[in-house]
Amino acid sequence: MLCHCQKPAVITLQHGSLCQLHFLNYFEDKVFKTIKRYQLIEKNDTLCIAASGGKDSLTILYLAQKYLQKNNFNTPLFALAIDEGIKNYRKSTLKDLKQFCKDYSIKLNVIAAKKEFNYTLDQAYPKINKDTKKKPCNICGVWRRYLLNKYARKLNATKVITGHNLDDEAQAIIMNIFKANTDLAAHLGPISGINEHELFVQRVKPLYFCTEKETKLYSLIKKFPVQFIECPYANEGLRSNIRDMLNDFETKYKGTKQGIINSFLALLPLLKLQAKNNANEIKVCQQCQEPAHQNICNTCKIQSLLR
Ligand code: SF4
Ligand SMILES: [Zn+2]
Ligand SMILES: [Zn+2]
Repeated sequence: MLCHCQKPAVITLQHGSLCQLHFLNYFEDKVFKTIKRYQLIEKNDTLCIAASGGKDSLTILYLAQKYLQKNNFNTPLFALAIDEGIKNYRKSTLKDLKQFCKDYSIKLNVIAAKKEFNYTLDQAYPKINKDTKKKPCNICGVWRRYLLNKYARKLNATKVITGHNLDDEAQAIIMNIFKANTDLAAHLGPISGINEHELFVQRVKPLYFCTEKETKLYSLIKKFPVQFIECPYANEGLRSNIRDMLNDFETKYKGTKQGIINSFLALLPLLKLQAKNNANEIKVCQQCQEPAHQNICNTCKIQSLLR
């Protein structure tokens, strides 16, 4: 396969094949256009990049910094990582992240679940699962959202930038459809959430239109220190089944994932309106004073199960 410039291609996309140089330009252009179109980064922001050390987070750390330099923005930027306490996984991704942040002079903050909740995910999961059948990713997701928001706010961030890519989003959309969670689906999109609240820091996703395959290739070409190891819990739960199903569909019917995203974006304004009408307003948790959708937040519910 050849690129339009006649050099050997490194990837074949729906609209043609691209060589290394043209792929890098295409990828960066797509991310920067997403940032501009949805105003994901503004001059007077303070940016908190939710980082794990995986390919998506290193890519977005690099590109957010590049975007600021390119536009001559003096916007402060720092990385925030959550150490959930997952054996044989998190320590090594955090090692990569620390090295990356050192190389690019980015301040890194690491918050450990063990310190915050007295339990690592590995310790909490068997206990919670016994009573509720909840999967590790359910607990991990609740903890991560909670800690990211709490510490991003404490560190004065105006935006939390996450490395969610097109594949992650397509999976989340289908998961919410399968579970008839239209109110939850309304929280998706390049800018997360439906209601603004002083305790909530807005979450934004500049890699929204980049596929898993593209992000992986970008991080490989850029030689980011990524080991591509998988979380030991990654194959448990609904999401992994949906991921496999969508990958299977994508192989048979090219453009499936992009089609899901496009259909969803066309419906999103209606979903947001419906969620607002359902009076899904943000409250303050009566136990921890963090923002919540009910009187007691999901993190405090997990804590009471652990006690
Ligand atoms: S796969 Fe699940 S448990 Fe592992 S880091 Fe991701 S959300 Fe957490
Ligand atoms: Zn080319
Ligand atoms: Zn709470």
